Amino acid sequence: MQAKFEEYARLLVEVGVNIQPGQNLVIASPVETAWFARLCARAAYAAGCREVVMNWKDDELTREKYLHAAGDVFDAVPEWQSAFFNGYAREGAAYLAISASDPENLKGVSSDRIVRGQKSSNAALKDFYRLQMSNGFPWCVGSVPIPSWAKKAFPGCSGEEAVSRLWDAIFTAVRVTGDGGAVERWRAHLDTLKARIDKLNALGLESLHYTNALGTDLTIRLPEEHLWCGGSGVAKSGVPFIANMPTEEIFTAPLRDGVDGVVYASLPLVHDGNIIDKFRFVVKEGKIVEANAQEGEETLRAAISLDEGAARFGEVALVPYDSPISRQKLLYYNTLFDENASCHLAFGEAYPECVKGGEHMSKEELARRGLNDSITHVDFMVGTADLRITGRTRDGREADIFIDGNFAL
Ligand code: ZN
Ligand code: ZN
Repeated sequence: MQAKFEEYARLLVEVGVNIQPGQNLVIASPVETAWFARLCARAAYAAGCREVVMNWKDDELTREKYLHAAGDVFDAVPEWQSAFFNGYAREGAAYLAISASDPENLKGVSSDRIVRGQKSSNAALKDFYRLQMSNGFPWCVGSVPIPSWAKKAFPGCSGEEAVSRLWDAIFTAVRVTGDGGAVERWRAHLDTLKARIDKLNALGLESLHYTNALGTDLTIRLPEEHLWCGGSGVAKSGVPFIANMPTEEIFTAPLRDGVDGVVYASLPLVHDGNIIDKFRFVVKEGKIVEANAQEGEETLRAAISLDEGAARFGEVALVPYDSPISRQKLLYYNTLFDENASCHLAFGEAYPECVKGGEHMSKEELARRGLNDSITHVDFMVGTADLRITGRTRDGREADIFIDGNFAL
């Protein structure tokens, strides 16, 4: 196992954020995974990192805070915190986040506190989020099991067994075998994604039409000069990085006013420490006008009411139903993995890189191109084994994009 842990840490640091000599690295990590954060720090220093700076997370303390802290705590962010995040983002430091949380950590917490907390954090950390969305600095999200999370993914297993099974699943998902060949396997994988991107960009699509037996019947118009992206991005410094490990998706942005119909979620969504399940949206001229969920409806409604753009879409992502993560037939209860098992959409902000030259455009210019703006961005899964996506090109042709859940191109 030790060889796999070290190979994985190196993969996140050398390929994920692609740390450069003299560059600072911020690592966000749960306290339970400190041992793994140390492996990442060692790998970073070995690659010439200037300093590794830690941002520790703790589910239990977060829950205590949401339940018991003074109310005004959620309306402001301490100055040192915004200086920390915005400062490292502005200098172009690398940012590695280890995503591991109990999916129901905030169950029972008032959604008002969560929404207020998000709003103030998004306002105070504006530079950090803006630079993150537009590849201003290299960032990577990876995951390490913790017992509370692993037990949700493997119910009925003891904590220790669940953690070990989740490790096996993650290693498969991120192509780590312990033989030291993960970097090579990632190169080949990125080439596959690139080939799909090139095909879709060459089509010159105007719109996509989604249908499946769940009841989804959704038309999504795409901006002129939209670009399909995926795999690795390029930071402002010119250095390539991979924002999510694993990543199986290729994605672009929808027109903010150009989405119509009904869309059903195909997998549960873990959001704000709550599970939202069996939900659907009715969308008119881009705006979600109806939202229902059998579980977690309050959380869902709060999420799409954060601001004007939260009720509109910002991402269209294609993932084949036979992707390696989908084939695991495991519900991870963590969007980093579940979104890579399924075609998904996101409500909230669009990535500027999804329109030609977008990384250098102002918010106003991006809005003129039809991209959605919001303080939030939440992926939700819509892919099924029978999903059909038909494209219409700008010159009036029809093209099969997905048939029976997989690429038809
Ligand atoms: Zn995505
Ligand atoms: Zn997304």
